[in-house]
Amino acid sequence: MTVPLRRPIIAGNWKMYKTILETESFFADVAPLVKDVHHCDMIIAPPFLALRRASELSSPSGIAISAQDLHWEKDGAFTGEVSASMIREAGATHTLIGHSERRQLFGETDASVNKKIRAALASRLLPIVCIGETLEEREAGRMEQVLDRQLTLGFAGLTEADFSPIIIAYEPVWAIGTGRTATPEMAQQAHAFIRSRLQGLVSRGVAQAVRILYGGSVKPDNIRGLMHQADIDGALVGGASLQPKSFADIVHYQ
Ligand code: PEP
Repeated sequence: MTVPLRRPIIAGNWKMYKTILETESFFADVAPLVKDVHHCDMIIAPPFLALRRASELSSPSGIAISAQDLHWEKDGAFTGEVSASMIREAGATHTLIGHSERRQLFGETDASVNKKIRAALASRLLPIVCIGETLEEREAGRMEQVLDRQLTLGFAGLTEADFSPIIIAYEPVWAIGTGRTATPEMAQQAHAFIRSRLQGLVSRGVAQAVRILYGGSVKPDNIRGLMHQADIDGALVGGASLQPKSFADIVHYQ
């Protein structure tokens, strides 16, 4: 059986950084640095307010735009929330779902992750679903159990066809924003586990085809080792995606 070619992805998560003006200056500066990139997909997830401007400015660079979250309802009395169709209309093609900061600071659960994935799929927004264990869970030897739970509940009831637009980001919580990266071997081990669980939960075809990004203190000087691993298909980058030069250096990992 032939293994599908998984096109690499370098995605940046800006979190709550950058105004609209700062977004304009990022895209002006990054475009010449990445204009000849053909070996991978590039995605940037700015804050909601900058989505529209980012999607207007991103075409010369070929960077796709992602939201960082969404609400699962189409509309309604949900003060402060943003729906999938609003995100689509702002020009974004992707959305992060279940980032560990949403899980830890804003009460995101596997059940809400599941509802958000369904809402994104219904609006043809491509979900980038984040999973990963905390330091305490890893040290207690529970990494696989946590990933298993997040996969089983987060993706509950989804069909094989539902998986084709889905991207997964494995982000060990202890490596996010800490400067402490998982070694390429540790990341590879977790990615291989995720793929094997997807084979059990959905199918071998989905397990082989789904793109799994690594996230957690990815920088220009550690991306290469990570990208050499068989089951790592790209990176979700926080801090190092804020500067055009470091984002572009990560994109040029080859
Ligand atoms: C993230 O925000 O998803 C992330 C991985 O952040 P950092 O690269 O800063 O650790």
